Amino acid sequence: MRLVLFDVDGTLVDCAGQSRAPFEAALVEVFGTAGEIDGYEFSGKTDPRIVIDLATGAGVPEGEALAGLGRVRDLYVERLARAFDPSRVRLLPAVVERLEALAARADLALGLLTGNWERGAEIKLAAHGLGRYFAFGAFGDDRIDRHDLPPVALERARARFGGRFRPEETLIVGDSELDVHCARAHGIRSLAVATGWTRAERLAQAGADRLVADLGDPAALLELLGESAA
Ligand SMILES: [Mg+2]
Repeated sequence: MRLVLFDVDGTLVDCAGQSRAPFEAALVEVFGTAGEIDGYEFSGKTDPRIVIDLATGAGVPEGEALAGLGRVRDLYVERLARAFDPSRVRLLPAVVERLEALAARADLALGLLTGNWERGAEIKLAAHGLGRYFAFGAFGDDRIDRHDLPPVALERARARFGGRFRPEETLIVGDSELDVHCARAHGIRSLAVATGWTRAERLAQAGADRLVADLGDPAALLELLGESAA
């Protein structure tokens, strides 16, 4: 059995920036500042990494930033759940079609590998009912950096489906350079989708095994799973 791990923002959905205001409010509530949030590059970062970068950048000692993570998370997901408008969430091209096709196969397991805190990912995916495709995932609750999430995902897959999932039998699908980097760091192949905020050239330079404009064409994905599209 092989494993396909999907990122959320920019890969499956575009939430129209709806997490930004609740995130900023939670940071201000806990640390009294959201730091340099306006210039911050969010793409591919985990939620805890964003908190630590913005808080320490504003002079909060790292230990204090780490100690505040749980409170920021709780405030953020509570505010997100309250303010979230599912009608503003855009499903990215061919996502449902692709997930349906993969979910129908008995030889594949689907999971999430996302920097979102788990509850945030649930809220974002629920807008289009995508949560049903993913029996497990690795989240921002698990590690501070995306780089460290693949082993968590492989272990969760083992716990959920039994058997051992090897890196060479796994594929990571994501829209940022950090998705590609975290795959490469663990000997996992990556399919980069240019549906997020990172230009295609940068994804190619990061070393994505294949790069597609969107998930409309299944050929690259099937090839990375060791199959021809025919
Ligand atoms: Mg993303």
